[in-house]
Amino acid sequence: MDRIKIENLEVFAHHGVYEEEQKNGQNFYVNAELFTQVRAAGLQDSLALSTNYGEVCHFIHQFMKEHTWQLIESVAERLAEALLLTFERVEAVKLEIRKPSAPIGLPFESVSVSIERGWHTAFVALGSNLGEREKYIQDALTGIREHKLIQMEAVSDIICTKPYGGVEQDDFLNGVVMLKTLLSPDELLGFLQELEQKAERKREIHWGPRTLDLDIIFYDNLVLCTKDLLIPHPDMHNRIFVLEPICQIAPWYRHPLLHKTMQELLNGLR
Ligand code: AMP
Repeated sequence: MDRIKIENLEVFAHHGVYEEEQKNGQNFYVNAELFTQVRAAGLQDSLALSTNYGEVCHFIHQFMKEHTWQLIESVAERLAEALLLTFERVEAVKLEIRKPSAPIGLPFESVSVSIERGWHTAFVALGSNLGEREKYIQDALTGIREHKLIQMEAVSDIICTKPYGGVEQDDFLNGVVMLKTLLSPDELLGFLQELEQKAERKREIHWGPRTLDLDIIFYDNLVLCTKDLLIPHPDMHNRIFVLEPICQIAPWYRHPLLHKTMQELLNGLR
């Protein structure tokens, strides 16, 4: 992807673990790479179609001066988040925060922290078949929309489906959302579990009735297998109640392991 690069922006600020550092301040130097498409701006010679690097420099300068953190890790993390939330054409940022006057007591040139952060695309499946099903689903959608680090891209229809997994129970309401997020997969799972808790979800019978079930289906093209999280969701390709709604919003999306589009998977299952 195209990049706008800022090198060694000097900022006098007050970050540091020691009291002296927070009181007296020192110079920090910032290297930033903004990942963004600049082709349209370049072809039309229009700043309105790009990100104004002058504005970005002033933003970084002011942000670092008006906050105080102990760690340059925190400066980098908070600054990356603020840049991604403020400059809408920027899809990812690489930041290096250098601190050449860090109180180390030995001769050295500089210490720094470098991070790369960006927006990720995720699909989340919603289901409910107990109590006020409509309300649980709508509350979950509202919760997702209100999260500062999530942007809702598309919401499928909420469809009524027959239960799956052999347990005798009421019909489900199901849907899928496509979102952009700055949350990591673990953080996204944690947030979805908070929403499930708010819906008074009790985990009793596996495959059994639930007030609210929220599953991460995809997270970019990531393949992740940990104790708590399997991505892509390991059973999504067998579930019409996931594939039908996902086909409404992204029939073209290709499964990163099965290499079939959502439409092909649905056609295969039917
Ligand atoms: P259930 O709500 O019955 O689908 O199961 C939830 C459990 O599955 C949680 O403990 C999660 O840690 C685990 N899990 C594994 N992969 C996923 C995923 N892709 N989305 C949501 N939960 C997952």
